[in-house]
Amino acid sequence: MAEFCSECTPFEYPDIDLAAIALDLSPGRSESFICEGCNNRAVYKDEKGGLYLAKAEDGVIKLHPVIIEQLMK
Ligand SMILES: [Zn+2]
Repeated sequence: MAEFCSECTPFEYPDIDLAAIALDLSPGRSESFICEGCNNRAVYKDEKGGLYLAKAEDGVIKLHPVIIEQLMK
């Protein structure tokens, strides 16, 4: 079954809710997933509470800083 994250899902309720994952994460932890609709691969929260979206780009995982508001929609 294909799973889509909240950033790219065509449905009202995403399989992978990025904001919910981000809010649940403890500092220093990450949660990875496979989104079949885009290159999002994980949400990471650093020790200071900064959030990052890990994206697969050309076979490499890159961290992009995000704020929680960007993940809510
Ligand atoms: Zn996605």
